[in-house]
Amino acid sequence: MAKLKTAHFCQNCGHESAKWLGRCPSCNEWNTFVEEVISKGKNEVTAFAKSSKRTAKPQAIHQIKDIPQQRIQMVDLELNRVLGGGLVPGSLTLFGGEPGIGKSTLMLQMAMQEKNQKILYVSGEESEQQIKMRASRIGELNENCYLLTETQLESVFKHAEDLQPTLLVIDSIQTIHTENIDSSPGSISQIRESTAQLLRFAKQTETPVFLIGHITKEGSLAGPKVLEHMVDTVLQFEGDRNHVYRLLRSIKNRFGSTNELGIYEMLGTGLRQVENPSEILISNNQDKLSGSAIAATLEGLRPMLIEVQALVSTAAYGTPQRSATGFDLRRLNMLLAVMEKRCGFKLGAKDVFLNIAGGIKVNDPAIDLAVVASILSSNADLAIEKNICLSAEVGLSGEIRPVNRVDQRISEAEKLGFDKIIISKDNKGIKQENFKIEIVGCTRIEEVLKELFS
Ligand SMILES: [Zn+2]
Repeated sequence: MAKLKTAHFCQNCGHESAKWLGRCPSCNEWNTFVEEVISKGKNEVTAFAKSSKRTAKPQAIHQIKDIPQQRIQMVDLELNRVLGGGLVPGSLTLFGGEPGIGKSTLMLQMAMQEKNQKILYVSGEESEQQIKMRASRIGELNENCYLLTETQLESVFKHAEDLQPTLLVIDSIQTIHTENIDSSPGSISQIRESTAQLLRFAKQTETPVFLIGHITKEGSLAGPKVLEHMVDTVLQFEGDRNHVYRLLRSIKNRFGSTNELGIYEMLGTGLRQVENPSEILISNNQDKLSGSAIAATLEGLRPMLIEVQALVSTAAYGTPQRSATGFDLRRLNMLLAVMEKRCGFKLGAKDVFLNIAGGIKVNDPAIDLAVVASILSSNADLAIEKNICLSAEVGLSGEIRPVNRVDQRISEAEKLGFDKIIISKDNKGIKQENFKIEIVGCTRIEEVLKELFS
């Protein structure tokens, strides 16, 4: 037996220290250090590492051959989109989310859909029978999918060598442990070492690997942030467990943009791809209610129409409350200040509550104008016509600023049957004759109000 060696690891960020510390110098969290046994005595060369030794030598840049990147086109188009247009061979993807959100369901569904791939699905959480039961609920079973209940990494690699899968799923990384390290499964050093070995496996065998990782209570991915740095792609599965909609976001992607978004609806039979998100994000309520405005936003490259709801009321107690769900509170405060200072609306003594319908979060500045419109609508108790939508940023002097890809937003609004869209006058190059929807360009908030409420 090799000599036992221990180290202390921050359970939040993975910082390593020889002695115990009360406060982590890396992430400043208190009381996060746990002693873990690491044994460096053993030989770290694993089975697959011995077999293929690649020798690289420096090459002149113009002599390097262009190899067109072959991506695996996934059956699940939402997943395909978020991965940046397909799965890259040899890539390591971390698939994170809160427990119970549906990560295993989505991965299992993917495993059943990919009938052209030979899939090895390793689970350290459920038995083969349980997984099969869930898989049959989702849909037709895939004959090319192999299930393995295993938590020991070396054994996983051995099976992978025998089976030669074209895709490997690990459910979850927190249950896997490697012989190289003596600490318990789920500890930082185990997760880190296992991920490093899986990364080597992915690169050397050109097999894409999906790692399912649980998110901690604080919302950080899989506890240790070290994982995010090691893998090629980090996907996050989000959503409220009480809502049926799930968002699949890419947080990091070495092979594509991180702006892409996938949307699913959780059904008893699995996850349904939502091709037209606008349908679900706008309420079908036909009554005219004040405080609601529709914004044409772009999430990544995907146009979406979403409903902004505001409630403005006189503050019952001294300090007015401001709260925002799905929207940045500081930006809300800024917009309130603009309305107060530049447009003369007395909102200083009012409570303002803002909500983005559907439980989603929006960062697109094009939503600004809809936020302003919904607040003013609620403040004056005047409803905005249901057939109008807005898409523009609001500047500090109350000017209406242009947004990018406005033609896509206009097309989406037109497709969904809106009659009028309000944008910035500075959005150049938009030709009314190309659209059926009426396009109104404004420069000031006052002009927008005239369009909305006269
Ligand atoms: Zn830390």
